[in-house]
Amino acid sequence: MAIIGTQQSPIKIITGEAIFAPVDPGFLRFHYTRPLPGKVDGHNFVFDPPADEQNAADWSISVDGVKWLIRQIHVHAPAEHLIDCHCAKDCAKPFEAHLVHSSPGDVQAKGTKVVVGVFIEPGTETREKRSLDKFAALMAKRAGDGGGKKPKEIAPQDFLPDSGLDQFFRYQGSLTGEPYSEDVSWMVMKDIGIVEQAKFDALVQWAKHKARIIQPLNRRFVLKSFR
Ligand SMILES: [Zn+2]
Repeated sequence: MAIIGTQQSPIKIITGEAIFAPVDPGFLRFHYTRPLPGKVDGHNFVFDPPADEQNAADWSISVDGVKWLIRQIHVHAPAEHLIDCHCAKDCAKPFEAHLVHSSPGDVQAKGTKVVVGVFIEPGTETREKRSLDKFAALMAKRAGDGGGKKPKEIAPQDFLPDSGLDQFFRYQGSLTGEPYSEDVSWMVMKDIGIVEQAKFDALVQWAKHKARIIQPLNRRFVLKSFR
């Protein structure tokens, strides 16, 4: 039974109301540089972590010097977080990827998590993002023949924007699905990831199509790393 408190996600983020909290260069660092193995599980691509997680630099991000390992990626269409949106609906970005991280050793991501949210839109890619095609193809294959059990590889960096990796909003929130646990540090990237229209369409097809309703901010602040 989920216990739902006062720090739920997603929320509506208004850039002008977020508090500018400068961070040191390198406060948020993405260390993944190559495709990483994993399996499709429902709407998620779940990474198979290496045995020696302490040395798994390629699997990690760091937030203020603390290391977090990537556990899964899934995508939502439409986006769950609303940005600079003043109506109740219909102004959601078309798409949001969630990159879920937990501490080394916490393979099931039962404890505290860092989830990086990236809005993605169709356009002209400035670098080829082959893993997005692959992600959609793996989902399609699973739906078609019940496969997807064999390990595959996805490059998490393909889900990141090409620029502005030091520009993000952050706030304390929850999972947006069961069990809605309030153990998530959200990092929502300001810049948007751009992918070719065909890849975008394929991704949308395999996204989670139910966005959770916007949750009250209550006594929380949204911080931004940029002016
Ligand atoms: Zn999600």
